[in-house]
Amino acid sequence: MPNRYQLLFLVSFSLTFGLLLLVSFWVSSWLAARDIHLRNLILIGLPKDPQHPEMDVHSIQDFVQNFSREDAIALAQTPTFLASAGLVAVTFLYFTLFTGERKPVLNPNEWKEFPLVLKTQLSPNTAIYRFSLPKSRDVLGLPIGQHIQVSAEINGKDVMRSYTPTTLDHFDQGHFDLLIKTYEKGNISRHVNLLKIGDRIRVKGPKGAFKYHNKLTGHLGMIAGGTGITPMYQIIRTSVWDSGDATTLNLIYANVNEEDILLRDELEHLHHNSAGRFNIFYVLNNPPPGWKGGVGFVTKEQVAHYMPSQEKDCKILMCGPPPMMGAMKKHLEELKYPAPRTISKIDDQVFLF
Ligand SMILES: Cc1cc2nc3c(=O)[nH]c(=O)nc-3n(C[C@H](O)[C@H](O)[C@H](O)COP(=O)(O)OP(=O)(O)OC[C@H]3O[C@@H](n4cnc5c(N)ncnc54)[C@H](O)[C@@H]3O)c2cc1C
Repeated sequence: MPNRYQLLFLVSFSLTFGLLLLVSFWVSSWLAARDIHLRNLILIGLPKDPQHPEMDVHSIQDFVQNFSREDAIALAQTPTFLASAGLVAVTFLYFTLFTGERKPVLNPNEWKEFPLVLKTQLSPNTAIYRFSLPKSRDVLGLPIGQHIQVSAEINGKDVMRSYTPTTLDHFDQGHFDLLIKTYEKGNISRHVNLLKIGDRIRVKGPKGAFKYHNKLTGHLGMIAGGTGITPMYQIIRTSVWDSGDATTLNLIYANVNEEDILLRDELEHLHHNSAGRFNIFYVLNNPPPGWKGGVGFVTKEQVAHYMPSQEKDCKILMCGPPPMMGAMKKHLEELKYPAPRTISKIDDQVFLF
């Protein structure tokens, strides 16, 4: 099944080819009506043949001299000419608006400011905040798996925290989205929650030691809690839509209540489009009646069952609240995975964001 870019190419190719064919038929019949035959034009430059007087157009000058202003006006008013002009204009607009250079905006050495343009509340304490980039074709310029830093002056002090956008350079232009949970006593999360449309945040990046690509490993195990899903979502989204990626992706995603599960529709959509490559196991502290996922905290047995075995060509990625990450490190250690370093490196088998 071709992807949407291949389909777009096929449709535009067929349309252009069909229209060009139409134009060539129309041009030759229009010329024939004026007794100018294309086959004769091949003889341009040859002396006129007195035995075939109908072959009287033997030079470009003849053709140009016979082409009157009325002919030009008549040509410009024909449906085929108008359709061709329309096609040229649409093609020009398409290439100007959609295929020009996509400029990366982030600079790791410079703070940049971006205005809030949209806030989508997901639950009482979680929202997706959309910030616009200077131009509609701009992208953040963030490698997959890396994050940005957001800074603000709070009570006279510069406070800085990390956030992983849910948007990707490959799919999203002109803006970036941050999915943020607001903590009652939080600094930056509360600051962002209080922003009004048009207010700006200060951002710097890219940051982080992890960069995903489709040859990184054969099996990726992911353990996420709450908003720790954001770096996983970036990677899963990239991998699932990459037809050259054969990595298997297994996610354990833990939350308190069912309504806390973030990006659930998006994750399910990715699961259904992954041809079995991406699977999710949800764990809830307070499950609703009839819940089929895990209950309570993530157990060692669940890690052993859903994560790839440490003997395989695999990596385990983790992101979530510190107490949960502490418990997961212990499970992994007991299952003989190497302990993660204090600051993870890309070559580590267990990587903590
Ligand atoms: C690589 C990386 C990516 C991240 N991406 C995201 C993201 O996409 N979305 C997102 O929402 N967060 C993300 N975080 C977490 C984020 O950086 C902040 O830690 C979080 O927003 C809290 O910051 P704060 O300034 O509001 O609270 P802080 O000033 O750090 O904390 C103040 C108080 O808030 C409460 N609090 C803070 N964090 C927690 C917590 N985890 N659990 C319970 N209470 C807490 C506590 O009461 C704490 O004492 C990411 C972290 C990292 C390291």
